[in-house]
Amino acid sequence: MAPQFAFFEGRIVPIEQAKISVMTHALNYGTAAFGGIRAYWNDDEHQLFVFRPLDHFDRLLRSARILMMDFAYTPESLRDLLLDLLRREDYRQDVYIRPLVYKATEGIGVRLHDLKDEFTMFALPHSDYLTKQEGIRVAVSSWRRVDDNSIPARGKISGAYVNSALVKTEAVLNGYEEAIVLSQDGHVAEGSAENFFMVRNGIVITPPINADILEGITRRTVMTLLTEVMGVQVVERTIDRTELYIAEEAFFCGTGVQIVSIGEIDHRTVGTGTTGPIVRQLRALFFDVVRGKIPQYRQWNQPVYVDEHAVISSAR
Ligand code: PMP
Repeated sequence: MAPQFAFFEGRIVPIEQAKISVMTHALNYGTAAFGGIRAYWNDDEHQLFVFRPLDHFDRLLRSARILMMDFAYTPESLRDLLLDLLRREDYRQDVYIRPLVYKATEGIGVRLHDLKDEFTMFALPHSDYLTKQEGIRVAVSSWRRVDDNSIPARGKISGAYVNSALVKTEAVLNGYEEAIVLSQDGHVAEGSAENFFMVRNGIVITPPINADILEGITRRTVMTLLTEVMGVQVVERTIDRTELYIAEEAFFCGTGVQIVSIGEIDHRTVGTGTTGPIVRQLRALFFDVVRGKIPQYRQWNQPVYVDEHAVISSAR
């Protein structure tokens, strides 16, 4: 289902009017950066909750900074634009939100400086990113992750997603659901569009933020839930390829995939080949958290609509 509106060139317009020229710099050179945010519908409360919007917009503005973009926006002002947009759409279901900063100048000449910067955003009803959510089959990609000194993976830079597209298509055409990408020095980085975690000896391990990964917001969420709620130790350290073959559990996480357990890596079964105990508990907790069902983490859930029950009761 397509959205009806977009935020485009400073205001909300019908989606048909949100169009750019073939001469746009970002289209020609990949000079853009994007975000991916989810909003979850909570039927009990009749409320749509955006998950950690300030953290997402903060990262977007950092990506913009890497691309020498200059915006007067703050994470809070972008959050408010998003709330306006979602209210205009009047969504009462799960939603995926795509904010995008881009070099909008029309013309030829590859560079970052002396170009016009624009921000656009649209939101559409969500669908699952991966149809299979548990025990997916994964291979180590023949492609390597972009290096921080080539195109920084920490910025969600549009041009760098050619790397992700090469990884994903190779994996799918070879019969896998996803792939794990190694860094230039041969260590585990992440998936094509998700962060990677594994369990060894009961400890959860994930590559550090200087291992050519995106600094995922789901990654941060998962680390908090594992330590604060589940009492599981999380270690950020370099992971060797062969450690993948002896892990007890492994999973991908990200806004799109949410949490997906890995059942097989390079034809070696991970654990029992289905979702292991740590990932099972984590997934259940995560879905409660994003839907606003855990009071301890309600600060991560940004409500979209005014509280209709509160309005009714105060009107009495
Ligand atoms: N790594 C890459 C390369 C991604 O594209 C994504 C999706 N945004 C992630 C990790 C997960 O990040 P997040 O949890 O912030 O969505």
